[in-house]
Amino acid sequence: MRLLVVEDDADLNRQLVSALGDAGYAVDTAFDGEEGYFLGDTEPYDLIILDIGLPKMDGLSVLEQWRRSDRNMPVIILTARDRWSDKVAGMDAGADDYVAKPFHMEELLARVRAQVRRASGHAKNEIECGPIRLDTKSARVTCDGDTIKLTSHEYRLLAYLMHHHGRVVSRTELVEHLYEQDFDRDSNTIEVFIGRLRKKLPSDLIQTVRGLGYRLSADPDAA
Ligand code: CA
Repeated sequence: MRLLVVEDDADLNRQLVSALGDAGYAVDTAFDGEEGYFLGDTEPYDLIILDIGLPKMDGLSVLEQWRRSDRNMPVIILTARDRWSDKVAGMDAGADDYVAKPFHMEELLARVRAQVRRASGHAKNEIECGPIRLDTKSARVTCDGDTIKLTSHEYRLLAYLMHHHGRVVSRTELVEHLYEQDFDRDSNTIEVFIGRLRKKLPSDLIQTVRGLGYRLSADPDAA
């Protein structure tokens, strides 16, 4: 999952990027409204965290413009504790949720997980596909109850496929949703990680759909 953080407070921006990175997300960052607007308008984020008080272009205008041009990604706004009117205006402008500053990082992370899983059609924190179970809260993956040890890149890839299980996901989509903007995007690395995941998972769980991409499915005849 790839996220964007738009926050002009350099310290808070860094804390957010660090906490979200530790939680297994690829994170891009912007420090003013114009840059944030541009990135959100051109890159396919799975979720955006947007501060309301931003230089160059305020957060509400950024959000309104995204929604006007049908950018539908989940957006969580950051508001000042005492500005209830910002929360109302933000939700009316198309925000999916808000967190008031100062906040506990655990609360923000829980709200991020909820929005990301909702956006892919999952209501529960645990996503299952056949014998595989992904606990998005603890970032733990099990197969028939046994923990599968994954590197952070393997986890990112499997988490994306689990959120979208049953659907064909192209190599381009994977590259766009697994790596930060400035990452050297060589789509061959996807094949390498798919190969490593296949060795750790039951065979046939990750199917190659020739010319289209990959599908995670417990049903071998889904193709
Ligand atoms: Ca601010």
